[in-house]
Amino acid sequence: MRHGYESPEEPVGLNPVFSRAGEATEFPRFTLPEGESLPDTAFQVVHDEAMLDGNARLNLATFVGTWMEDQAGRLYSEAVDKNIVDKDEYPQTAAIETRCWRMLAGLWNAPDPAKSIGTSTIGSSEACMLGGLALKRRWQQRRRAAGLSTEKPNLVMSAAVQVCWEKFCNYFEVEPRFVPISLDHKTLDGDGLDGYVDENTIGVVAIMGVTYTGMYEPVQAISDALDAIQKKTGLDIPIHVDGASGAMVAPFIQPDIVWDFRLERVASINTSGHKYGLVYPGIGWVVWREADLLPEELIFKVSYLGGSMPTFGINFSRPGAQVLLQYYQFLRLGFDGYTRVQSASRDVARYLADEVRALDRFDIWTDGSDIPVAAWQLKADHDEPWTLYDLSMRLRTRGWLVPAYPMPEALTDVTVQRAVVRNGLSRDLAGGLVDAIRTSVQELDQLKAPMPGPERVAFHH
Ligand SMILES: *Cc1c(COP(=O)(O)O)cnc(C)c1O
Repeated sequence: MRHGYESPEEPVGLNPVFSRAGEATEFPRFTLPEGESLPDTAFQVVHDEAMLDGNARLNLATFVGTWMEDQAGRLYSEAVDKNIVDKDEYPQTAAIETRCWRMLAGLWNAPDPAKSIGTSTIGSSEACMLGGLALKRRWQQRRRAAGLSTEKPNLVMSAAVQVCWEKFCNYFEVEPRFVPISLDHKTLDGDGLDGYVDENTIGVVAIMGVTYTGMYEPVQAISDALDAIQKKTGLDIPIHVDGASGAMVAPFIQPDIVWDFRLERVASINTSGHKYGLVYPGIGWVVWREADLLPEELIFKVSYLGGSMPTFGINFSRPGAQVLLQYYQFLRLGFDGYTRVQSASRDVARYLADEVRALDRFDIWTDGSDIPVAAWQLKADHDEPWTLYDLSMRLRTRGWLVPAYPMPEALTDVTVQRAVVRNGLSRDLAGGLVDAIRTSVQELDQLKAPMPGPERVAFHH
């Protein structure tokens, strides 16, 4: 019998959904079914399988938005069919995109946002590729103009960078120079930077909201260190700020931290609209302080969409709806609303860190004071036969997804567990997580041997 489609002999449309072919029998998993299925049947099969995924709201591994207001949901379904690249056909979406990055340029204190340039992307990864490419291309131009070799570009960054920077270096053939973190220098902070940069350094990446811990890197201190290096060697090295999460947090709740275009050395900044920009995945942004920091030669002009449309990005087609959702949030929340939302998330992260500390079993790495993230490790005198990986598995059985993972290079013997607090994790829900941690710890203590788990739980973003 053929699988996965409705037999023409059966009164298929009348069959109750779970007794139809496709439901009562098996769909092939890895070969294309031979025939069609009823839409209801296909829907039910896909819907049901997705049901086995974790609950997005309880997924504290991710920084990415899992809750928006109903009005945003309506806007989303109205706009799912819009392709962002069709700028001539959807001029309003294109205009809204420009308004959004212009607002970000202002939020990040560009000297003259009208002279900045930026674009939306599919996420911070693409935004970082573009930021990195502009750094590389400008370094090449300077070197060529001076008759110097462009063979060996390098990029300096913390060993705790997000994987997108390793991808950038790999895909675009730039040598990554990782500055290890240590217990004394938990972030890239400018210390010893002169040992890493040289004439082939295209730039330094500073992270606002390190993925592993949620900590801010002191961009000002990094900038000062580069000033000192310039004084000594003449090398003028730009900074790209990876603000995937922090660039949409710091302006609202830590306005005194100087990390953005107020620092002249900061050439470009990216953020994930779908993280603390409060939009569903996938949208990112990258903005350059001034248009001439983005080499013209990276911009393509295409005519086949009607008009002569500049395109700059790795992707061509991608969803336009997220751009409208970002604009929705900007109008809906404004500066005050974002401040309120991010403050509330920070308060929940602090509450979570305090409660975890009070269990007296964990040392806190980050308590939500930077981005709203709480991270902890087991106390040094922990002598029970269970690990944070076991705790993570236990929490999973209660629906909570709270990953444990090793710290990067040079600190890999330290395991941390991290909870990312996002809009939608209420204080009340967080209380439920604290209860789950408390109960799980009690259960683990009572077990002679911990239950077997995977070597480690996947570490996202
Ligand atoms: C999440 C993250 C990225 C990647 O962002 P995507 O939007 O997921 O592509 C890059 N850098 C940092 C610091 C991040 O937290």
